[in-house]
Amino acid sequence: MNIATRPENGVKFSINHFRFYRKYAFAVFNTLRKPLFQKFLNWVLRRENIDEHKVKDVQIRMFPFIKENGNGLAGKCNSKGEILLYPKKLDFFREHMKEFGKENVSFFIRSRARATLIHEILHLKYVSDEEKVRELAEKYFNIFTKHQRTQDLDTHNVTKMIFT
Ligand SMILES: [Zn+2]
Repeated sequence: MNIATRPENGVKFSINHFRFYRKYAFAVFNTLRKPLFQKFLNWVLRRENIDEHKVKDVQIRMFPFIKENGNGLAGKCNSKGEILLYPKKLDFFREHMKEFGKENVSFFIRSRARATLIHEILHLKYVSDEEKVRELAEKYFNIFTKHQRTQDLDTHNVTKMIFT
């Protein structure tokens, strides 16, 4: 699976924003490329009978995608098998940093990236069946999370924030 970070052109952000999103993109890049997670994704692909070559390209975009209604977008995919992943807005972390603590923010970023990639991969099979994709994505995400060491992390709250 080819996973890469791609910088965008023509986006103007302050230096602080730039640093934040650059760090964010690297965290996502490292998380998704981890052999354990790649192994897990391959297992999901086999279980769902999705040809692994269907996933052509996974692009980690550096800046958030904001829809017309003002909401952010976590990811999208197209029929060519290209998956784009977007970060959560910096404002979100400014709001939740105190409440969560640094450890959980980092856990949130990694979890959200994994959940989004699982979600988009499932779309390659269940195209526009959003309900089915959501249900399965949460199921697979929980299977993966259960096998991680997460005693000190607020797994329940983070998971709730990702899936609601
Ligand atoms: Zn979806």
